[in-house]
Amino acid sequence: MTASRVLVLNSGSSSLKYQLLDMTDGSRLALGLVERIGEETSRLTHTPLATGGGERERTDPVADHEAALKAVSEELDADGYGLDSPELAAIGHRVVHGGKRFTEPTVIDDAVLAEIRRLVPVAPLHNPANITGITTAQALNPGVPQVAVFDTSFHTSMPEHASRYAIDVETADAHRIRRYGFHGTSHAYVSRQTAALLGKAPSDVNVIVLHLGNGASASAVRGGRCVDTSMGLTPLEGLVMGTRSGDIDPAVVFHLGRVAGMSVDEVDELLNKRSGLVGLCGDNDMREIRRRIEEGDEAARLAFDIYVHRLKKYIGAYYAVLGRVDAVVFTAGVGENAAPVREAALAGLEELGLAVDSDLNAVRSGEARLISPQEARVAVAVVPTDEELEIAQQTYALVSAGRAGREGPAA
Ligand code: AMP
Repeated sequence: MTASRVLVLNSGSSSLKYQLLDMTDGSRLALGLVERIGEETSRLTHTPLATGGGERERTDPVADHEAALKAVSEELDADGYGLDSPELAAIGHRVVHGGKRFTEPTVIDDAVLAEIRRLVPVAPLHNPANITGITTAQALNPGVPQVAVFDTSFHTSMPEHASRYAIDVETADAHRIRRYGFHGTSHAYVSRQTAALLGKAPSDVNVIVLHLGNGASASAVRGGRCVDTSMGLTPLEGLVMGTRSGDIDPAVVFHLGRVAGMSVDEVDELLNKRSGLVGLCGDNDMREIRRRIEEGDEAARLAFDIYVHRLKKYIGAYYAVLGRVDAVVFTAGVGENAAPVREAALAGLEELGLAVDSDLNAVRSGEARLISPQEARVAVAVVPTDEELEIAQQTYALVSAGRAGREGPAA
């Protein structure tokens, strides 16, 4: 029997999301979330999908990530998917920052873990939680290969002129300051799915991917390789997001320090947590913003217009970067669900061959689909993202190749 299950772990500072997939067909066996780790009000929700059982919930306090993974392991065990099962091929970890070095998913050993640790200064909010997830899983399942799949990897193909900031080279290099980009597994998955939707090979299409979730980023993908993306050293750069400002004149930071007496940490918190849609109108959920606009709320209207204006600027910029565009694709919570955002972002771009068919755009569906008029020069698509499936596929491909290598070619 060949091991064919992959457990995908996405560890946040106080949460642990997981999915168990069967890679013979990519189906999901179970999924769940542990929230508020380290608090009295922790909660684990577990859904066994393949056995048809309903969602289960635990509300006993979960002290740390180790306790969280133990609880997850018990839930999986109860469904017959014990982590000690020989059918578990690997554990795939979402790791936010892989720097310049990790261009591919990587089997985790001590040296790899040390390098992920070395990157903590450039990803202080994310990498420590990812490291905790890895070390906890290693302790619980020492025999199972652990693979890191990096949010940054897909963007390592960006040319130097797109990834360097125009600042003093020595300072930049000393502190590893460059544009890394994030949401890479989503951009990789969605750009490939878009090529499939067009009936073409990824190497034959140029795509602008708009990942619009609570965090948001755009990327320009030429022939399957990322050539530019909107997030930079951190996920703060680029589009207007749920709580992040996106692009801003860096002098605003100095100004707030000098004039408002704000510390660096206070400005960091302002731009990451109290800006974007929430800063502009008090809400970061696009459903709520649309509801308020329907009621004539001016602040919500302005927040929406600023969000769409920035998005349109990036579409234009990446059109210019690519020269020829085959598809513009919307994904993630807002991109997949908010028809008014898609329509507004492409309004007035007919000269670029970009248009949205209102009827197709209004259809609600969980499927990848085209929303451009049939005669349109550039396809416009909605493609649901699936970062867990992408992480599982990359993890499984890597450990399967390793196994084949160890076993040698088939006789
Ligand atoms: P994500 O980060 O991809 O999970 O996206 C979360 C965001 O998607 C939420 O904050 C909402 O703004 C947005 N969203 C989710 N569902 C809808 C919907 N039905 N209509 C509009 N926006 C939605």
